Amino acid sequence: MTILSAKNIHKSYKTGSVEAKVLKGIDLDIKEGEMLVITGRSGSGKSTLLYVLSLLDRPTSGDIIFETCNTKKFSESMDSFCRLKHFGFVFQDYALLPELNALENVILPLMASMDNWEELNDIGGKVLEQVGLGDKLSNYPSQLSGGEKQRVAVARAVANNPKILFADEPTANLDSKRADEIIDLLFDLNKKGLTVVLVTHEKKYTERADRVIEIDDGVIA
Ligand code: ADP
Ligand code: MG
Repeated sequence: MTILSAKNIHKSYKTGSVEAKVLKGIDLDIKEGEMLVITGRSGSGKSTLLYVLSLLDRPTSGDIIFETCNTKKFSESMDSFCRLKHFGFVFQDYALLPELNALENVILPLMASMDNWEELNDIGGKVLEQVGLGDKLSNYPSQLSGGEKQRVAVARAVANNPKILFADEPTANLDSKRADEIIDLLFDLNKKGLTVVLVTHEKKYTERADRVIEIDDGVIA
């Protein structure tokens, strides 16, 4: 079953009077439970596509259909509600808040999407344990290694039990052992049923995916 569809997506950026056409007609169906890898050279439009698919940004034209909803009709607050409730995100630079410890970083987005805050610490502790950080709940980002920071980010991304996890070059700042561990974590989550959309240009990871699409100058190659 298709969980997310992109239909004829175009995205342009205007800088002054110059318009850069970045996505030039992308059609894509993401199937529930699949591990989809998006690859392509730097500047080809991978991040732009990921942001449009995940409702972090709007396409210039075209439709993003999540489950049965055409998100074109969504207001900005519906976009953010949908992201908080149904999507998880992992970015290259971890995007942790430095003034919050690991547990607090994980539970912060849950506060916006959950009514019962009494369970928050339990849920946060459990997901951090699942990523191997059960003993580092109180550590601040500055007290964690790069690999550990990215584990916190993965824990945060899955704490809301999302329908889709989006990861944009999550290993770009890690050494190869730490990178492999993060990718293994994402593949494990996918095996347990989570739909994962992963942007990477590492050959060894693209080979493991259910499906790989290559973006070349704004179109699917
Ligand atoms: P990739 O992730 O494949 O490296 P991006 O999607 O980040 O590529 O960027 C694709 C192109 O869009 C690049 O040429 C980049 O300079 C341009 N671009 C991305 N974001 C913006 C923006 N906010 N404003 C203007 N141009 C942008
Ligand atoms: Mg990118």
